[in-house]
Amino acid sequence: MSPAAADVKYRAGEAHPFEGGGGKFVYLASTGGIFGLSDAASAALVRAREGEFSRGELTDWLVREGVEGVEEALEDLVDAQALMPLGSAAIAPEPPPQGFPLQSLVLNLTNQCNLSCKYCYEYGEDKVATPEGKPKFMDFETAKTAVDFFFGDSTWRQAVHITFFGGETLMNFPLLKKVVEYAGEKAGGEGREVDFSLTTNATLLTAPVIEFLAEKRIGVTVSIDGPPEMNKLRVFANGKPSYDIIAPKIRQLLAAHKTRPIAARVTLTADVTDCIKIFRHLTQDMGFHEVGFAPVTSSPTALYAIGNGGLRGILDQFRELANEYLAAALDNRQHAFSNASDTIAELHEGVNKSHPCGAALGLVGVGPSGDISPCHRFVDSDTHKLGHVSTGIDRARQGEFLARGHVSGKYECQTCWARPLCAGGCHHEAYVRYGDTGHPNLHYCDWIREWTDICLRVYGEIAARNPGFLDHFDRRKAS
Ligand code: SF4
Ligand code: SF4
Repeated sequence: MSPAAADVKYRAGEAHPFEGGGGKFVYLASTGGIFGLSDAASAALVRAREGEFSRGELTDWLVREGVEGVEEALEDLVDAQALMPLGSAAIAPEPPPQGFPLQSLVLNLTNQCNLSCKYCYEYGEDKVATPEGKPKFMDFETAKTAVDFFFGDSTWRQAVHITFFGGETLMNFPLLKKVVEYAGEKAGGEGREVDFSLTTNATLLTAPVIEFLAEKRIGVTVSIDGPPEMNKLRVFANGKPSYDIIAPKIRQLLAAHKTRPIAARVTLTADVTDCIKIFRHLTQDMGFHEVGFAPVTSSPTALYAIGNGGLRGILDQFRELANEYLAAALDNRQHAFSNASDTIAELHEGVNKSHPCGAALGLVGVGPSGDISPCHRFVDSDTHKLGHVSTGIDRARQGEFLARGHVSGKYECQTCWARPLCAGGCHHEAYVRYGDTGHPNLHYCDWIREWTDICLRVYGEIAARNPGFLDHFDRRKAS
């Protein structure tokens, strides 16, 4: 190192130190990487977080403290951007180029639903859809055009994915069957693979439907909020609760559909925050293989919106379930808490997101009219329309949406260590809360950072004590 280089001042980069399994690590916002820290690197980072230092000053201080291996540790920290020259900024992750091939298509087969869940984003006060004058059910011609468009826009992908969504998806089951047949034949003809999944409220599951889903290996996610007293916002239009109708159907589904794991998706609301109880009910009493929780997307004034106290309680329970996940992982067992497995998979993969999710990138939603939208939650919204299946994606509108949602444009995120995973959070939620799909979801920042910290610690423990368990994430990604 030249004398001049020794005088360059450094600051600690956006990074989050954590411990796990007796080891010290740092999670780097610049890259999304996790870096094992030697004692020297750890001491240097602690010191650097107290101010601005030249490498010479840091070296002198560490040597005086009796720390060994200082030069090498500083070199590593600079390479990893855990130490940054003053005035420099971390390089923002590049978005994929325009025309990036699609990976997933979400087909909203209908915008109709036979339930009237009180919090539903499609019908409630927060709705962004403008379905007036548009078809309520997708027809086969539109679905076929959508599949053709999708295959054309994903040409160099060997394997692609179609998700069926609603409204209530199974209200248009005849179309679902035809699409599975048509897309399967098309994929076969092109020497490619397509797999399918759907989300349903379970009210219309019957033996023939279940048999079809099992035979075609269609992944199923059931929207259910727990035992009867927790599932109370999921009601029919006349106010009648849905639990007693769906419970036997779900049991039938779990007994007969063995070709894919069956998942439950729980929406947490003001009075429905007992995650542990819900989790036990859905896994132990009902037999779901995976359970994922999502706090309701709503304006803060909605009656069912969760306040800060509720979010704190949810986080404490997430920590408890994450610790159960850890215990299972150390014992080489899978655990059904999918919030933990999904976040840990992303940490393991080292994702560094330019955008919070695949919306308008590798994924688009298509509504019954054939309009293309960034994802299923924006379907039928004229404001967010990105084209039509007959004419393809409007690249200018797509570019505008993606530019607005890029993490580098979100001021508060630039100094946040959680940005490689969060990147500002869901575009739809941002629109509902702030009227701008590109606004960072600042109401969740503390929560996101604490949850990410929990998962980092679990990841560190697994990496130190049973690293072989992490291999299944590599296999899952490859498949
Ligand atoms: S939205 Fe908040 S938590 Fe997410 S990256 Fe931005 S500042 Fe961090
Ligand atoms: S915008 Fe929100 S709802 Fe849509 S895919 Fe992204 S995270 Fe999911």
